[in-house]
Amino acid sequence: MIFKCVLCGIFSFSPVCEKCQRDFLKPSIEYKDEIVSFYRFDDIKELLHYKYEKFGSRIFWIMAKNSLKIFARNYFEKAFLIPVDDNPEKGYSHTAILAKSMQTKYLKPLFSSLRASNSFKYASKSLKERLSNPRNFVYKGAGDIDVILIDDVTTTSLTLKEAKQTLKKHNVNVLFSVVLARG
Ligand SMILES: [Zn+2]
Repeated sequence: MIFKCVLCGIFSFSPVCEKCQRDFLKPSIEYKDEIVSFYRFDDIKELLHYKYEKFGSRIFWIMAKNSLKIFARNYFEKAFLIPVDDNPEKGYSHTAILAKSMQTKYLKPLFSSLRASNSFKYASKSLKERLSNPRNFVYKGAGDIDVILIDDVTTTSLTLKEAKQTLKKHNVNVLFSVVLARG
């Protein structure tokens, strides 16, 4: 398949050409407040925006391949991977793609285990609106396990905190969280 690179417009075998992947998707890993992140939100917001389109699964896979996948290949302790609210929209779930990219001999994804029961759309909402609309997560996975939480973006860490609280009630130990981008 031939694509037009979504960043520079040249024809390419990938929707983000090799040159743009080298120029814009070289991760700078940061570990803060028990969250591992790879990019700054403002640096990749153009690509993150594709999560609302069908085409987005390919874009998310490319971002994951350049960041989370490399991180996971250098991680050698056993844990489960829990994508936050991997409810498929437009035929795929972006957090499920991220979790799948981290799958190794040591890291196993638990798909569809943590779903929000409140479908309120968080994107571009104010902190006040977010606080008054908790996600009300429902966990359906195993208890007494060590996990890594996976999400696409964190700004206030509100979602991750709420997810952790839910998991704690099931005796699930969150080692840390991994996100593509920090706001
Ligand atoms: Zn390009």
